[in-house]
Amino acid sequence: MWRCYPSALDPAARPAALRQTASSEVLMPVCASCKEEVDDVVVVKVKGKNKKVCEDCADELREQQEIAEASEEAVRDMMGYKGRW
Ligand SMILES: [Zn+2]
Repeated sequence: MWRCYPSALDPAARPAALRQTASSEVLMPVCASCKEEVDDVVVVKVKGKNKKVCEDCADELREQQEIAEASEEAVRDMMGYKGRW
């Protein structure tokens, strides 16, 4: 009758299963922008900081950043002209 049990009694079998469930919960990444749990996060650099966000937010952030950088440059140009007395 032993033979019915080995897999259930195998100390490695259950913890492994439990560990898998636990770690998949822990490893479920959350988007830093929309706070949604996502399968995969993308690291985007925002103002020098790495942000882990979902792909949708990554696209959005990249776009916003490009606009921000472009307008910052425009402002810097204007300041440059105005700043030179
Ligand atoms: Zn997101």
